[in-house]
Amino acid sequence: MNTIGFDIDGVLYPWHKMLHLWLQVNRNITESYDDYWANVQEKDGDWSSSIYWSNMAGMRHIYEMYMPPQEDVDVLRRLSKDYNILYITHRGSDLERITRNWLDRYKFPNTDQLYVGNIPKSLSVRFYGCDYYVEDKQGIIESLIGVTDVICMKHNWNEEMWDLVTTIESLQDLEAVLK
Ligand SMILES: [Mg+2]
Repeated sequence: MNTIGFDIDGVLYPWHKMLHLWLQVNRNITESYDDYWANVQEKDGDWSSSIYWSNMAGMRHIYEMYMPPQEDVDVLRRLSKDYNILYITHRGSDLERITRNWLDRYKFPNTDQLYVGNIPKSLSVRFYGCDYYVEDKQGIIESLIGVTDVICMKHNWNEEMWDLVTTIESLQDLEAVLK
């Protein structure tokens, strides 16, 4: 049985959309979603290390706001009959419970196989034996080429990947590209 790994934010959970929505309501930002994320590097310096981003990533309620479409859950449930499904996320370990609760609440399959932490995905994807891995972050996709059959979830921040790896617009395209 082949194994498919899923990233969470930007793949199963539209964290970027939820954050933008929250900022619109609570911080009165007026930039469109596309503008906000297209120029994300200019927001407050470096994406990975700035206080701005760690504050944004630490807002726990952002991780519970979203109700996934039943069609998305159904895709994973169908795939779980033929594939070993697992989840690997760089969310902080303090978010493990909130993440598992969200997956369980909406009845995603195999939630006992949720791996939370900051190990480079090129290592964890290899360690857990992913034949396929669905990811949205450009740098991570690049690091996974040659490690697994990496599938890009299309966003405006990973445009350079679209011609390099298999790219899907939504989870509902996934079964077609696995065949
Ligand atoms: Mg992601």
